[in-house]
Amino acid sequence: MNTQRLIERFFRYVRCSSESGNEKEFCLLIEDELRLLGFDIYRDEVGSKCGSNGWNIIAGLEGNGEPLLLSAHLDTVTPGVNIKPELKDGVIYSDGTTILGADDKAAIAAVLEAVEMIIEEGRPHNSVEVLFSICEELGLLGAKYADYKLIKSKAALVLDNERIGEIINRNPANIKIYFTVRGRSAHAGMAPEQGIHALKAAAQAVNSIKVGRVDDITVMNISNFLSPGKTNIVADTASFDMEIRSFSEETAQNHIKAAEKAVKEACKDYGATYEMRVERCSYVINVPDDSSLIDMVREAFKKAGRECFIAESFGGCDATHIFANGIEVVNLGVGMSDVHSCSEHIAVKDLETITEVIYHILTR
Ligand SMILES: [Zn+2]
Repeated sequence: MNTQRLIERFFRYVRCSSESGNEKEFCLLIEDELRLLGFDIYRDEVGSKCGSNGWNIIAGLEGNGEPLLLSAHLDTVTPGVNIKPELKDGVIYSDGTTILGADDKAAIAAVLEAVEMIIEEGRPHNSVEVLFSICEELGLLGAKYADYKLIKSKAALVLDNERIGEIINRNPANIKIYFTVRGRSAHAGMAPEQGIHALKAAAQAVNSIKVGRVDDITVMNISNFLSPGKTNIVADTASFDMEIRSFSEETAQNHIKAAEKAVKEACKDYGATYEMRVERCSYVINVPDDSSLIDMVREAFKKAGRECFIAESFGGCDATHIFANGIEVVNLGVGMSDVHSCSEHIAVKDLETITEVIYHILTR
């Protein structure tokens, strides 16, 4: 392994800023490097749908057998401009004024370095496709709008998780619900009985909806409770937002029904009405522990001499859209830590490990 080249590659990528919506320059850099490695490149022009000057990069490199899709995201959170990576005692940090961008450029660096190693050695390798998405951090937008007809792979690895060795094969459905309760305004001093108190109705509903770990496989939350107005007016509108994450779609749907029932009953008590909007953020992912995809990853970690383990995650990632488009997928940890903060960092050893794992997978 050419560790120096891997570090330089990673530094080059994080120095090329690509905050969500502003990925163009980084897209161009990665396209150039993929082209030099022999990839056929397709620009998946989803920028206008995502509010970005960039695009998804879909690229393929012919080799043996059925292709495998490797996926990572091109964008970073803020503050991600003028990143100055520093290597200290085997760990790479930013200078503390920005994020580092290991999320998810460590993954992109690992993929390109692994392919460069293979090409340099002239080794036979498997067919590989990449999907590098934009605007992941804005709600998985690039992956949501990606043109999956361009992808031939039936199996995929998303490289966008923290702990090295972690193989995430289960992800919950993530659904947001927006409730608005409507009542009737009236003068609170002169004619309160003519009003319908939307705030009280909404508060009653919120009080009877469970939050937190509501069962073994589901977490729920309520936020953004709003009913702006003056003290001398009966509140005619109140609204609140909810989020449900469940490893079972059916369970999630039952919780949504229960929440709606609570709102309906509270509205009935006060004579109010309600509106409800449901927004899908992600679908359930469930890849069996004994799938050949997971076996392949385990084998690669074994060859790299590192431990790996299966886990579930309550977080969201591009894998949900890949899975929903009929591609079996797991999400791998790449070693990044404290992501979305100015103390984000990654150990060189972990960056080497994930590169080696990809190398073994592509030369299996
Ligand atoms: Zn990420």
